[in-house]
Amino acid sequence: MENSARRIETAVVHAGSERKVKGAVVLPIFQSSTYLYSGQSAYEDLKYIRLSNTPNHEALGTKLAALEGGESALVTASGMAAISMALLSILSAGDHLLIQDCTYGGTRDLVSGDLPALGIQVDFIDPGAPDSWQEKLRPETKAIFVESISNPLMQIGDLVSVVGFATRNGLVSMIDNTFATPVNFRPLEHGFDLVLHSCTKYLNGHSDIVAGAVVGGEAMVSNVRSRLLRFGGSLDPHACFLLDRGLKTLVLRVRQQNESAAQIARFLAEHPRIVSVNYPGLPGSNVDSGTAGLFSGFGGMLSFEVAGGVESARRFIDGLRIAVEAPSLGGVETLVTRPATTSHSGLPAAEREAIGISDSLIRLTVGIEAVEDLIDDLNQGLGSL
Ligand SMILES: *Cc1c(COP(=O)(O)O)cnc(C)c1O
Repeated sequence: MENSARRIETAVVHAGSERKVKGAVVLPIFQSSTYLYSGQSAYEDLKYIRLSNTPNHEALGTKLAALEGGESALVTASGMAAISMALLSILSAGDHLLIQDCTYGGTRDLVSGDLPALGIQVDFIDPGAPDSWQEKLRPETKAIFVESISNPLMQIGDLVSVVGFATRNGLVSMIDNTFATPVNFRPLEHGFDLVLHSCTKYLNGHSDIVAGAVVGGEAMVSNVRSRLLRFGGSLDPHACFLLDRGLKTLVLRVRQQNESAAQIARFLAEHPRIVSVNYPGLPGSNVDSGTAGLFSGFGGMLSFEVAGGVESARRFIDGLRIAVEAPSLGGVETLVTRPATTSHSGLPAAEREAIGISDSLIRLTVGIEAVEDLIDDLNQGLGSL
């Protein structure tokens, strides 16, 4: 793989680029569902959008593999298509999955609702407590699934131990790397088998498409591709084009977001009207030191509690002038939400409280605006409480 040898700043721009089409510097959108038959004997080798093998798909596959340091990569119609197809390519009836307790809501609903209906058993683990995993292990356990940074408390599990545990027990280790991005953490380089992304978030970075990705070894990704073409979750070429364009500025965006989020976390931590701040880059956050050393930044997401409970949180959000109140994350614009009313509204209140998500918790996804303006905005919002 000539591209994987290049630095990530170069790979986001050039990996996968084909400059053979009429001299176009940028790969055009191949808005063609089907392609000339050229003697293929296997169905999967025919060129067709649902088979995820048009030039736009292949360019992205090469680029994403280079960014994550993987052998192979595949884009999908959404992050959930990547996660569901990856899980179904590894697990079948009779198998057992270990998965971290606080995952993205859609993932949690999938593993607790749909997998058991297919005969796949699931147990939840605390990703920060490796000593508690062994008792959940069964002879049928096939895989362990974690997230690099969890939502909305921004916890990082003991990822070094996850890889060790998976290796010792012959499990496939899967990680949703959406929040960290390959700019901050490349799981395959540290022993994970399969990396999943919601490209809807940082990888595209402009809040204008929904897409997903699977990255890993050739054989595993090929199995996911076989499921994907049957289940039908392929990404449209126009969305492929936008994702490729968004990826070119990934490193610039994420480094700025790392920097701004860290500054905002420090500002909030010192503010008298703030009760607590969750950001893994703050001193005193309890990230396992071996795992923390694998990260080159802690991302653009943080959450916090203002004094005065839900009413005060509501007024604070209403008073913001730059941060936009909306769910989702990872775009160039700063967004603010209360997870209890958006990402985690599906959980009963008692369950939310039990995992540390109070109704007044506020989540911020930091964009690329001037950090001084963002801090001024937060400051005036807090001043009005
Ligand atoms: C958004 C998100 C997903 C789901 O992605 P979609 O593109 O919305 O399907 C999965 N995992 C994480 C961590 C996410 O933030």
